[in-house]
Amino acid sequence: MADVTMDKIVSLSRRRGFVFPSSEIYGGMGSTYDYGHYGVLTKNNIRSLWFQAMVQERDDIVALDSAIILNPRVWEASGHVGGFTDPLVDCRTCKLRFRADQIEQASCGRRPSKHPGETPDCDLTEARQFNLMFKTQVGALEDESSTAYLRPETAQGIFVNFKNVLQLARRKPPFGIAQVGKSFRNEITPGNFLFRVREFEQMEMEFFVPPADAERWYRYWVDERFNWYLKYGLRESMLRKREHSAEERSHYSSGTTDIEYLYPIGWSELEGVANRGDFDLTQHTLHSGTKLEFVGDGTERYTPYVIEPAVSIERIFVAMLVDAYDEEVVAERDRTVLRLHPAIAPVKAAILPLIPRNAEMVEKARGLHDELRKQHMVEYDDGGQIGRRYRRQDEIGTPFAFTIDDQTLEDDTVTVRDRDSLAQARLPIGGVRVWLEEALERPWRTPKA
Ligand code: ATP
Repeated sequence: MADVTMDKIVSLSRRRGFVFPSSEIYGGMGSTYDYGHYGVLTKNNIRSLWFQAMVQERDDIVALDSAIILNPRVWEASGHVGGFTDPLVDCRTCKLRFRADQIEQASCGRRPSKHPGETPDCDLTEARQFNLMFKTQVGALEDESSTAYLRPETAQGIFVNFKNVLQLARRKPPFGIAQVGKSFRNEITPGNFLFRVREFEQMEMEFFVPPADAERWYRYWVDERFNWYLKYGLRESMLRKREHSAEERSHYSSGTTDIEYLYPIGWSELEGVANRGDFDLTQHTLHSGTKLEFVGDGTERYTPYVIEPAVSIERIFVAMLVDAYDEEVVAERDRTVLRLHPAIAPVKAAILPLIPRNAEMVEKARGLHDELRKQHMVEYDDGGQIGRRYRRQDEIGTPFAFTIDDQTLEDDTVTVRDRDSLAQARLPIGGVRVWLEEALERPWRTPKA
């Protein structure tokens, strides 16, 4: 099995057009990335499978899309203006910045083998709190009153809409509100490819429950989210649940569990699930003067507790690529293959005329492509040797390839090639659409150990 390093993932992502460094022709923009065609398709799949599990297949969760720039008072109430900070340390010698709480993992600019502060040359400042929110101005005036922020999380947009949803969607706890959208954090030490970026797409769901049921729902959502990763092919040995100790938790949280993945940088947070109590709704009630509570029949009246599973598409994307990346030698040739779950794979099938100069083969291949593309993201490719075309599809994780060859012209059958086993079989061309439909529905497990 391949030793999967972050460098290999970055290089494949770039080579195959999943992800590029942003603004590259101007020298890039530190830890900011742009997604190419296959990156967009993969992200779309991750987003829609999350949405399917969180909204489409449930009766108790509704969708929301709130603004990125909210009234700045939202961020005062939530505690972000005062407290969304990381402790920052500068080194006057090497001019680098470090997170004071991550000095142990950081390398000194001058002596990479040492941690900041370990050599006599190091001249570190005292730690000072650095707010991670990006500030901007709204309107033509540039003064205090026009200061606004790019949201550092999508959750607050959900809390401030609690009353709207409660009334207009006629919900009563337990119910949830799900939202996907860009969040922005001015991270001090971004890096590790997409793992920590300044602009990322968050998928958050706030689940409002009667306080007495909060613990049960918290455990439920930890399991639910963990199982979602297994369903979409991540290996169980690469996943774990890590419950925060009381010291590590936010002051308002009575339970937080990180679902961690064994990234090439070590076990790190993929998704966080927290029992946030009634902190958020209470804060917004106090600051806005609007009561955010549930009023039921009779005397029933309470501020719901909130259970929050929160993750970014970026961290899922990296985990999926790392889990899928494989190298092997087949018939004395190296093969790199992304063993992605078919539902995550950007392209579901390739349609390949064996001899691109053969007009009949091209016509049949084009016809099959036109038929399949109505249902699925499929790709027609007639560029180069068939072996090279297979390898290209392997590297972008296409689970199936249909090849139109000499025999197709005789009996209207095609070859289907399986990405993982490399097994080949013949199918009638007229049955390919249904075959593919069924193949994509089948449960899939990675052949990786
Ligand atoms: P960390 O401790 O890694 O900074 P966090 O605990 O601050 O993360 P949360 O505020 O709980 O993260 O954010 C919820 C989720 O959003 C995280 O589990 C992660 O999936 C994602 N996320 C947070 N910050 C980033 C980032 N800078 N880049 C990519 N994804 C992020």
